[in-house]
Amino acid sequence: MTSLEDLPIRDDLRGRTPYGAPQQAVPVALNVNENTHPIPEDVAHDVVARVAAAILTLNRYPDREFTELRRALADYLGHGLDPAQIWAANGSNEVLQHILQAYGGPGRTALGFAPTYSMYGLLASGTGTEWITAGRDEEFELSAATAVAAVRAHDPDIVLLCAPNNPTGTPLSLETIEAVADAARGIVVVDEAYFEFADPGSQSALTLLAGRPRLLVSRTMSKAFAFAGARVGYLAGDPAAIDALRLVRLPYHLSALTQAAALGALAHSVEMLSMVDEIRAQRERISTELGRLGFHPYRSGSNFVLFGGVDDPGAVFGQLLARGILIREIGIPGHLRVTAGTEAETTAFLEAIAVSAPNRMAS
Ligand SMILES: *Cc1c(COP(=O)(O)O)cnc(C)c1O
Repeated sequence: MTSLEDLPIRDDLRGRTPYGAPQQAVPVALNVNENTHPIPEDVAHDVVARVAAAILTLNRYPDREFTELRRALADYLGHGLDPAQIWAANGSNEVLQHILQAYGGPGRTALGFAPTYSMYGLLASGTGTEWITAGRDEEFELSAATAVAAVRAHDPDIVLLCAPNNPTGTPLSLETIEAVADAARGIVVVDEAYFEFADPGSQSALTLLAGRPRLLVSRTMSKAFAFAGARVGYLAGDPAAIDALRLVRLPYHLSALTQAAALGALAHSVEMLSMVDEIRAQRERISTELGRLGFHPYRSGSNFVLFGGVDDPGAVFGQLLARGILIREIGIPGHLRVTAGTEAETTAFLEAIAVSAPNRMAS
């Protein structure tokens, strides 16, 4: 069999590893921050009806400008956004790829604050953009001063701010986002994949868009919206900044089926998001309980919790997997990450992890 070493792959891709969160059929999958609650059946029926109608015209290419979807996404986001300020693609990963293709590339740099979303580095390498990481403050927080100092030191073409940050869960203050947006010369992307899970009253970076044409705010239907399998991510920003993404997208990149399904889900956004409060409550329960067990959970504004104080993360991961519970090793020594699932899934996780706890409770 031919090995990759024998093939004329790009030199800058040699030796790289692809994104590879394990996909395993287990009873309790808490490893990729999905909404683990199934789609409500009445919503599913409406989505099916819309997809069925779209199938009748699959002989034609879909609306390249996804006009109706843009309007629905603008309405969903609010903040007075206009459809011309909206972009969408097959997951926010593709949205981010479009940004890197249009504003990054060979000879250009993108800056992020590690540890952060592993796809940023992969998307950068795929587009020939140099990926630079700067550090965070204590407890993986990111102050305006720390972030601005890194922006000044590296003068990047693109800054990727993950708010709240994956894999740490750390919320990012509007103050830091605003300071970075004002200090950076290039494009500033705020990845709000988990925004819907933020504590009530949290402010979105959407409130900073007016007067900042280089600021872009991305969201996804994959997490709170319980629609990961449909692959729909989107972006809000200045119409001109968004117009540039048309230069790099593939023609008709959003299929008619995807557009129809997304419109169906958005028509029921209240119902689709109805489990968010419950998931947030489970997140708080995980943090409290892990702390009580002697682990070190970090502040989270998302639907997952990063925790330290794990002597042997690989062993704990294996022990949980043996009980049918899949969580995530994210490569930070002594740490693991777990998604807040249903109450029953959370209970299963907490009961299983108690066995490996530093302050193991006598039971
Ligand atoms: C899950 C996640 C996304 C969403 O990816 P999709 O391609 O929309 O499924 C984006 N950013 C971060 C930080 C994530 O954790």
